[in-house]
Amino acid sequence: MSTLQIGTLIAATGTKVNGFITVPNSPVQMPLTIINGAKAGKTLLITGGIHGAEYPCIESAIRFGASLDPQQMSGRVLIMSPVSLNSFHARQAFVVPEDGKNLNRQFPGKARGTIAERMAFTIMSEVVPHIDAWIDLHGGDLPEALIPFLGYEEAASPAVNAQTLDMAAAFGIELLVRPDHLAGTTVAAAAQLNIPCLLAEAGQLGQREESDIHLLQQGCHNVAQLMGIIPGTAPRTNLRIFENWPWVRAAHTGCWYPQVKIGDHVRKGQTVGVVKDYFGEQIAEYQSPADGIILLVMTALSVNTNDPLLGVAAD
Ligand SMILES: [Zn+2]
Repeated sequence: MSTLQIGTLIAATGTKVNGFITVPNSPVQMPLTIINGAKAGKTLLITGGIHGAEYPCIESAIRFGASLDPQQMSGRVLIMSPVSLNSFHARQAFVVPEDGKNLNRQFPGKARGTIAERMAFTIMSEVVPHIDAWIDLHGGDLPEALIPFLGYEEAASPAVNAQTLDMAAAFGIELLVRPDHLAGTTVAAAAQLNIPCLLAEAGQLGQREESDIHLLQQGCHNVAQLMGIIPGTAPRTNLRIFENWPWVRAAHTGCWYPQVKIGDHVRKGQTVGVVKDYFGEQIAEYQSPADGIILLVMTALSVNTNDPLLGVAAD
């Protein structure tokens, strides 16, 4: 591949370069590794730690970048992890500390916005123009239990949707949700540009289980194989596809008592948990909005109005 420059990082053919890209007019830096293959091919971007306390995804992206040998590659892999160094070091769930905004609701970002908006804009304007495909790695955040799943948003082009489905089948996680548009996410911003973008989630609760790290790292490896960037034949998993991903949100502030666990099968209308006040009196009862499988559950006792309580993979 020809030499690639992103910000101040310059990677010649057949080299790996580590460094940072700076969010303009701010002190915020985002880690970037450019692995520029000896031979020509496609470019895959992997982002981990857009939410800075989702540790297995961050560690898996770091390990994958470190494992790659540019001399054996046809094409490029770009790694950004942890994207949100500021929330990583603040051990902050869900949001960027400077502005309290969820970075995965700010894409494609704003050049002159708040810090999270400018981080998103910097990725979209400096990195994404160089790529053919994107894997955005996530997991359950500090107070969030979660079973591994994949997701994507349908793009304008059927050919791009087929490419994203192929990436999902290669990744190695069976559950796939394909919900309607959720504004501001990486997958939505990529779909707008007709770039295949796969959301992959594994890990939970501030833990760093080797099995979750391995699952995500292997998934990135498989997709890089599928794209012909690294040698070998990618595996193929039979996907279980769910078209909806409804969330239950809290309508009250108080104490949350879930009555289901991740992976449970639920029926529409089934009670999934209750909120009580600080004296043990029940304030509200919550029902599943659909038949499906519980993908994620808020485990924190404390709950605020409008917080997500759980998410269901539903047909
Ligand atoms: Zn996340």
